[in-house]
Amino acid sequence: MRAWRQKNKERLREYEITYRLKNLKRIQARKKVYDQAYREKHRERISKYARIYRQKNVKRIQNRVKAYYIAHREERRAYARRRIAARKKIFYTGVCIDCGATKSAWPFRKSLERDHRNPATKRFSIGASLLRPLPVLKKEAKKTDLVCHECHVLRGKHRTSLRRAA
Ligand SMILES: [Zn+2]
Repeated sequence: MRAWRQKNKERLREYEITYRLKNLKRIQARKKVYDQAYREKHRERISKYARIYRQKNVKRIQNRVKAYYIAHREERRAYARRRIAARKKIFYTGVCIDCGATKSAWPFRKSLERDHRNPATKRFSIGASLLRPLPVLKKEAKKTDLVCHECHVLRGKHRTSLRRAA
């Protein structure tokens, strides 16, 4: 049997290639099922080795990530711009709840602003964090009012004078 195999090596190889090409889809589907089962069965071992690999290859991984970022710079910028524009629409359109203005009058700050009603509960500035996940932004926005720049300044002054009086 072995000798026969040895003698017909080329023919066997050719047969195997033809078989694989003919049944590519079926083989791939079978492999996918097998891989999934394998990953599930050995989940702990796989994550352990992944962890060891990461620890051993910190620099290499960093370089790979960096290369990816550089290669996809324009794409990422366009994505960030789109995301920010969409969020500005969500969080900064409407009217100032204090005076009813739809825009700030001050020439360099045309858009409305988000004022934290209680500065003590403020976790971050919405306008400076528009790339954060939407649910996180919505949760933070619940603590704020939409106001124009002028009313925002007035609210700030009011709070300062209250603090001074206390
Ligand atoms: Zn206002």
